[in-house]
Amino acid sequence: MYDNNNIFAKILRKEIPCEMIYEDDKVLFFNDVNPQAKIHVLGIPKIPVIDYHDFIQKAEKDMVSHFFSSINLVIAKLKINESGFRIITNNGRDSNQEVPHFHIHLLAGENLKGIR
Ligand code: AMP
Repeated sequence: MYDNNNIFAKILRKEIPCEMIYEDDKVLFFNDVNPQAKIHVLGIPKIPVIDYHDFIQKAEKDMVSHFFSSINLVIAKLKINESGFRIITNNGRDSNQEVPHFHIHLLAGENLKGIR
């Protein structure tokens, strides 16, 4: 069951601050507090879903499409399309997912060999 007290739920309720990169009514992208690369952005949908599997099962198709399309807006904003980037999502126990609100990691800004 979705935990309303997870840290990203608190960020969405503005109870905890974040360094916002892009936001609209459906998604929020913000800097990771413990960056693993020069650019490390997290992207989350504004609905209560635990992980990727939960997101695809529960979200409206428009939401899924909007979420993944919005990653491209962030890529454009950060000007990382030419240099490259990595998108990761951790899902469940074996992935060591820490925060139980679906999110993608967008890593870039340097060569990512040996990172994550
Ligand atoms: P995961 O292991 O995929 O669940 O990743 C959770 C990520 O959230 C980690 O990279 C953390 O550094 C990051 N994180 C945890 N708390 C915050 C926060 N308050 N603001 C930004 N990023 C956070």
